Amino acid sequence: MQKLKLTEPIINKEIKEEVVVENESSEQETKELKKTKKETKMEKSKEMLVTDLPGVGAATAEKLATVGYNNLMSIAVATPGELIEATGASEASAKKMIIAARSNLDMGFESGADVLEKRNNITRISTGSNVFNTLMGGGFETGAITECFGEFGSGKTQIGHLLAVNCQKEDPSAVAVYIDTENTFRPERIIQLAKGAGLNPEQVLKNIKVARAYNSDHQMLLAEKVEDLIKKNGLNVKVVIIDSLIAHFRAEFIGRGTLSERQQKLNKHMHVLSKLAYMNNLCVYVTNQVMSKPDQFFGDPTAPIGGHIVAHASTFRIYLRKGKKGTRVAKLVDAPNLADGECNFAVEEQGLRDIE
Ligand code: ADP
Ligand code: MG
Repeated sequence: MQKLKLTEPIINKEIKEEVVVENESSEQETKELKKTKKETKMEKSKEMLVTDLPGVGAATAEKLATVGYNNLMSIAVATPGELIEATGASEASAKKMIIAARSNLDMGFESGADVLEKRNNITRISTGSNVFNTLMGGGFETGAITECFGEFGSGKTQIGHLLAVNCQKEDPSAVAVYIDTENTFRPERIIQLAKGAGLNPEQVLKNIKVARAYNSDHQMLLAEKVEDLIKKNGLNVKVVIIDSLIAHFRAEFIGRGTLSERQQKLNKHMHVLSKLAYMNNLCVYVTNQVMSKPDQFFGDPTAPIGGHIVAHASTFRIYLRKGKKGTRVAKLVDAPNLADGECNFAVEEQGLRDIE
């Protein structure tokens, strides 16, 4: 199966010039006419609202807005099923809305240079460890999902706490969202790490929004609510942590018969997270567990949970394990533009310490 990474959807906003000059006019006039037509077209596309879409009146727009579809882009990248669920519209009208939103945004191909320019907006959140940052090409990227998988005690939660603190080091207005499924978020640990990073612990804690997820449905709902924190509450969310991504799904869907249902839900969840990361240029960090593969005789007999769904949705995958003398080993096993590699560090009170 081809691997799809949601790092850069293809959006082309270039306005095509379409000018018909009826009477003969000088070259200068033609140019001016072209310019004004271009401007009005640009303004028109800027002005198009959700209510201008076919079949969307004020009531439907409101229904859409309550579930986060409050601009053309969010509708353009939605699936018909999502819009049907949100509005109760027929499949045909949901498709029409999507097509109209897409054509207005003029989504299409863009040049490699444009993509590069967009990638310049990506920032990287430091792990506090030089070797770990180097492994990750400078830190944990915004606009992408990074997954750490590993056994109990390998350091997955520690990294979540570190990202929540370190995103604020680079940008004091940055907010971290922590979706805690295993009751392992510890403000005391944040205080230690904030002191280690030279930040004001109280301020750091204020900029972390924590929610405990009680089951997989609740977890999915909380992930969808992050959009509101950004759009409605105006928070500068820079990192969204889901620790653990998989625990509820694993506990609730037991047995072979339920696997496809679990994967469908997980797929939807990952889709929401990918979109959140890309549309808001924020870093999504998820933790995953491992299962043992008793039939594997060579190499490491452990594998991450979640199958292809999680594997395909994560832009970066890191395998964490315990090393010698209480150290940790991080192995980058999948990344679109970085070489696979390993690094060693220790988890200490004030943060991570490099081990060369
Ligand atoms: P996981 O989430 O992968 O199960 P954790 O991230 O909770 O694992 O890692 C727990 C480990 O982190 C502990 O066993 C310990 O080695 C280390 N750790 C946690 N808190 C501290 C601290 N305050 N000082 C030093 N090491 C710590
Ligand atoms: Mg943990």
